[in-house]
Amino acid sequence: MARIKAAICREHGQPMTIEEVELRAPSFGEVEIRVDAVAICHSDISLWQGGFGGSLPAVYGHEAAGAVTAVGEGVKGFAVGDAAVVTVIRACGACPSCGNGRPSSCEDPGDPAAGPIASPEGEPIWQGVFTGAFAEKVVVDQTQIAKIPSDMPKDAAALVACGVITGVGAAVNTAQIRAGQDVVVIGAGGVGLNAIQGARIAGARRIIAVDANAAKLEGAKEFGATDAILADGKPWVEVKKILGGRGADVVLVTVGVAKVYDMAPRYLANGGKVVMVGMPHFGSNATYSPLLMAAAGQGLVGSSMGDVIVKRDIPWMVDLYAQGRLKLDELITRRWSLEEINEAFADTMAGNARRNVIVLKHD
Ligand SMILES: [Zn+2]
Ligand SMILES: [Zn+2]
Repeated sequence: MARIKAAICREHGQPMTIEEVELRAPSFGEVEIRVDAVAICHSDISLWQGGFGGSLPAVYGHEAAGAVTAVGEGVKGFAVGDAAVVTVIRACGACPSCGNGRPSSCEDPGDPAAGPIASPEGEPIWQGVFTGAFAEKVVVDQTQIAKIPSDMPKDAAALVACGVITGVGAAVNTAQIRAGQDVVVIGAGGVGLNAIQGARIAGARRIIAVDANAAKLEGAKEFGATDAILADGKPWVEVKKILGGRGADVVLVTVGVAKVYDMAPRYLANGGKVVMVGMPHFGSNATYSPLLMAAAGQGLVGSSMGDVIVKRDIPWMVDLYAQGRLKLDELITRRWSLEEINEAFADTMAGNARRNVIVLKHD
């Protein structure tokens, strides 16, 4: 049992409070990680707003990096002191999805209500998406972590935990972009920039970024977009001009807005597919024409956490970063302390940040 500080959400949409909580020791198959950096993801905002359900009180935060501080029984390949990335991808290893090589769609990841966090009085606290990383430490399942080089900056490493694997994985794993294909990425925020990087790594011919914010489009080009289109009017008309009249083989939607999903199939070439990455709140629905999509052999496919396999994909992404072939530092807009979490949330909601990162100092 460890007594740690964590940012607790007691009411959706209200400021979080920094409180002392009890974190139980890692049990079988679990590790305890000291959190050195944790980024703020749009899913954290949605969870805090209550848009994804879940119970209260809760600790959110799921893009973390730090070092192993304790190892439970039955943990293989990790020792105290190892630097690691902590992801939300908790996989049972025994369900059909895990058996089929899709641990990010695990059907039995466990019960978040039975997590390791409690108040000093013993009141259970919800461990947001099996992580609860707006805290000094986390206890997570060994399937959720990947080892990283000890000299890798933790703020950059934290981004790999969610935004980077989600974007790069959607392009490489879900869309399976081939060299020479044409790709549209809708949304040039934190995840969109990584989808652009993924398309570049996969060898796409044209990578067209579409966003309503002209400043974000400039950033998209830094990350590998070949073209950038402002999302007003009918941007798919401009996109098809760039692509010589044909649509895109792959459209990656990285914003959580249902209206954007309504329009996404319009960018497609025959045989193309829309990859659904951004997550609108519960209850918001999108529409499409089954007739037109069936006739053109098009598809829609969801990408959960970039269909990433944690221990396969995080090491290669980390190595591409070390080689200068995957941008991470450029994704960080600003660093904050845990005490500044509400201000950092407000800044993320204002929409201009690529990623805000909470950096924790330990004595
Ligand atoms: Zn996330
Ligand atoms: Zn499973």
